Amino acid sequence: MFTVTEIISGKHILQMREELLTGMRCKISPERLNRRLDEAFQPPSPPDFCPFCPGGIQTVTPTFSDGNRICIGDSVTFPNLFPFAAWHTVTVVTRDHYREEFSHSEIRDAFLGQITSLQKASGYKSINWNYLPSAGASIAHPHLQGMADRRPSPLPEKYLRSGFAYALRTGEKYGDDLRNHEQKTPRYLLGNELFWYAHFVPLGEREIRCIMPISCIEEFEPFIDDFVDGLLAMIRLYRSLGTHAFNLSLFFDRKKGRHFSAFCSMISRINPNSSSTSDTAFMERLHLEPVILTPPEEVGRIFQNKRMQSLE
Ligand SMILES: [Zn+2]
Repeated sequence: MFTVTEIISGKHILQMREELLTGMRCKISPERLNRRLDEAFQPPSPPDFCPFCPGGIQTVTPTFSDGNRICIGDSVTFPNLFPFAAWHTVTVVTRDHYREEFSHSEIRDAFLGQITSLQKASGYKSINWNYLPSAGASIAHPHLQGMADRRPSPLPEKYLRSGFAYALRTGEKYGDDLRNHEQKTPRYLLGNELFWYAHFVPLGEREIRCIMPISCIEEFEPFIDDFVDGLLAMIRLYRSLGTHAFNLSLFFDRKKGRHFSAFCSMISRINPNSSSTSDTAFMERLHLEPVILTPPEEVGRIFQNKRMQSLE
């Protein structure tokens, strides 16, 4: 499923990893961790005005064509004022501008808001989260974004297309084979029906994926509680490593099908910092070949150690 090529660079040994199904590649260079670019996390300071805080949200955010927003628990969902998809909605997760921790029900209600809003749309759907400005959030107030388009974006399109070809060739579903392959590796993290693991060819730092037993968003709701439990465990893992910002995407097929497993990908990002130091540079933005510092096997080892400690 994957290949590894060693690259000797002076005294250093790097890895080039490739996922055979998609051709996605990355380089792994653990020694670059020693640069210690990340600073200790400082919570975002409250702004003078936030459109997602109570007061702002009811007055400056748009409504759907029926004049309403979708309110589930504390979450509020509405169309994106500045869309970049045919259907693009925002779900504000909490009333608070910043939360030390999220509760299960807060995250579940926000995802339910996304599911409800995306059911009004057709096409290829995704649920996404940029958490904190250093992960690309223009507003620090926690919010999810749902998108639907006639064509999937390049990453899910690779898995949809090559997964179809894989099924024709082997008679198997790639997501099932991947799960069987990863189950007994150091990259395995959590769960079975919802299968959490550190991806072999990470797209970003500490990439964690969840393979879902479904293909389209209409099948998601029965699994939402399990999904939120896993997601909260992964957010705790990131925080225990000192990193608070992350990106998350959950990709779906446009309709129920047999070849594609819906999946979630999340990566940790550098903490917000005053000098605008970035964790993303020419390799990620122009070469499209991320340089990864933490090997996925190390993510698995840290996660299992922390689980053991919490059980003791
Ligand atoms: Zn706010």
